[in-house]
Amino acid sequence: MKIGIVGYGNLGRSLRGLIERDENLNLVKIFTRRDNNSFNDDKMESIKNLLEYKDKIDVLFLSLGSATDIPEMAPEIIKNFNTVDAYDNHAHIPQYFEKMDDIARKNDKVAFVSTGWDPGLFSLNRLIAESILTKGHTNTFWGRGVSQGHSDAVRRIKGVKRAVQYTIPKEEIIENIKENSKDYKSFETHNRLCYVVCEKKDEDRIRNEIVNMEDYFKPYETEVKFISEEEFEREHTNMPHGGHVIRVGETLENNREMYKFTLELDSNPDFTASVMIAASRAVLKYVENKNYGAHTVLDTPPAYYNVLSHEELIKNYL
Ligand code: NDP
Repeated sequence: MKIGIVGYGNLGRSLRGLIERDENLNLVKIFTRRDNNSFNDDKMESIKNLLEYKDKIDVLFLSLGSATDIPEMAPEIIKNFNTVDAYDNHAHIPQYFEKMDDIARKNDKVAFVSTGWDPGLFSLNRLIAESILTKGHTNTFWGRGVSQGHSDAVRRIKGVKRAVQYTIPKEEIIENIKENSKDYKSFETHNRLCYVVCEKKDEDRIRNEIVNMEDYFKPYETEVKFISEEEFEREHTNMPHGGHVIRVGETLENNREMYKFTLELDSNPDFTASVMIAASRAVLKYVENKNYGAHTVLDTPPAYYNVLSHEELIKNYL
């Protein structure tokens, strides 16, 4: 499969590493909005030249930020390429899906949208758990870990030099969830903690913009700590994450069944990139079947993610 990557941040770098070690994948170019020559790397190409690669790439990974990049750029890119993205602004996914679906269908293209782990595998597990345990409560716990989407959103604020956002679940709620099952609001079960590097004079404004940011921080209890560049480099450059999707359902005679899906990730971008690569195999299947438009993890047959034949899948996994 001939692959392109758009955007060379954390996710872009993870995609590159994983693609380069996979013998079934061939990395054609990485497209960036920055000066491609400044990287001193012949895989880097300017985004301005993207269209020249229209017929040289099977699947294009959009490893762009979700806050503003994806909504602005993906609807244009899908006109000429099959894409996979990890767009994670949950509140806006329905409109984004509709838009990508419409444009992809008109251009005989496939867009695998909003994959990764959340949205992505967590979404799938919420759906399966609720389809099985029809009476009950589902809760998702994230962290403790770095949310790339939230960190990205903070970094877009004027004056922010570096920033990271940790999502911290309230452990006491997780421990007692089977007994105290109910539908919690996610701001009741998590706190948010941001470490920011900026000029002293900007601190109050930046704190204010963070805690009041719609969709990302409001109404969570959010703490913002300002630290030096050195401390940031020393303490906050790893990107662990993970969490649980937990559904507690009632069956007969007050029996409680707990469905729990857990991820423990040393590297959020490496894992998210791995999920995106699995999705690219599904994209090829959709293209093969001329099933154009936008697709998600909820409507993709699990077998599409794997290179094995149907016969082998049944033998190995059923
Ligand atoms: P980054 O902030 O690292 O990168 C986003 C974009 O910013 C890049 O594509 C790059 O574009 C640009 N960029 C990166 N580094 C620099 C720099 N030093 N200077 C200037 N521009 C830079 O974001 P991530 O890669 O960490 O995450 C991307 C998105 O992935 C997140 O917004 C999040 O929404 C999503 N995500 C989704 C998950 C899921 O489970 N669905 C899980 C994890 C992440 P360019 O090269 O064009 O400049």
